[in-house]
Amino acid sequence: MPRYVGQEGRGVDGGEWSGFNRGMSVSRWVTVRVDLSRIRRNAEAIRRQVGVEVWGVVKADAYGLGIGRVSEAIAEVVDGWCVFSLEEAIEGRIWERTGKWTIVLGPPSRGSGEDYVEHHVRPAVSTVEEARGLRRSGPVVCVDTGMQRFACRAEELDGVILAGGCTEAFTHAVRVEQARRLVEICVGRGLKLHASGSGLLGEAEARLDAVRPGLALYRGAARVATRLAEARESRGPIGYTGFRAERHGVILCGYSNGLRKGICLVNGSIRRILEVGMQSAYLEIGGADRVGDEVVLLGDGLTEEDVAREWGTTPQAALLALALAGERRYG
Ligand SMILES: *Cc1c(COP(=O)(O)O)cnc(C)c1O
Repeated sequence: MPRYVGQEGRGVDGGEWSGFNRGMSVSRWVTVRVDLSRIRRNAEAIRRQVGVEVWGVVKADAYGLGIGRVSEAIAEVVDGWCVFSLEEAIEGRIWERTGKWTIVLGPPSRGSGEDYVEHHVRPAVSTVEEARGLRRSGPVVCVDTGMQRFACRAEELDGVILAGGCTEAFTHAVRVEQARRLVEICVGRGLKLHASGSGLLGEAEARLDAVRPGLALYRGAARVATRLAEARESRGPIGYTGFRAERHGVILCGYSNGLRKGICLVNGSIRRILEVGMQSAYLEIGGADRVGDEVVLLGDGLTEEDVAREWGTTPQAALLALALAGERRYG
């Protein structure tokens, strides 16, 4: 069975550091503290806000925060789960842990119809062939409204519904017009519909019959920190790139741990990470910062969005990278 990044070397629930993921690794000097009560409060707030079913997205090991502990923490708040692959649902033992169904959002695996039923997982289908083959697993049809992947076109919809006996349809929407388009395409067929991830939770029109938040469950729940391994008065150009600073610090976390140039917090001040090496990085520090002082890479008000902006990526990607950077603890 394929394993996904972030899982190898750590149990689904595990906190212990045990080495390497084929070059990408966990830094033993970095701590990832996951606040499960925050995830639960986030889930409850989403529930109150949307007033429709909430399907928690726990793909990629719950965005790196641990599918086992996360799913147990919010099992009573959500209506079900979404992952990308059947293997994620099985390895995460979601049904056993929570007694709630999972939808696999990604393309179905071949020849595993029985596995879906056994593990209380429903596949997403987008072709007549997939729908026919997985009919017994209660497939959900994925409709294309712009993403142009793993989804059927409007003119193919009826064929897929017929082949799979589908009663539910969804689209992967990032704009409210896409949710509207799903409704237009599916009108008059009596299907349960969903479209919204975290980005559209505020759009009443996009909520339909259910929402599928990922990031919104996890915002503010991870605190990723390390300590200054060195603190120096700088002399001339520094490091590989010859950057300059008045004082600089070194942390034992680098690009092999997923870190990139950007910002962090040292003793409450925002500081720049100026150069990232394979297993260490340089940052600017203030006059009072000392070896052993904590360096916060995410958390304490430094948000996933803040990091993502600096990295030129999405908050989801920043969260996942930093969640995998260190030893995970809960509390
Ligand atoms: C990942 C995913 C989501 C959740 O996305 P967030 O933006 O993290 O909330 C919802 N729907 C689909 C189809 C996805 O792949």
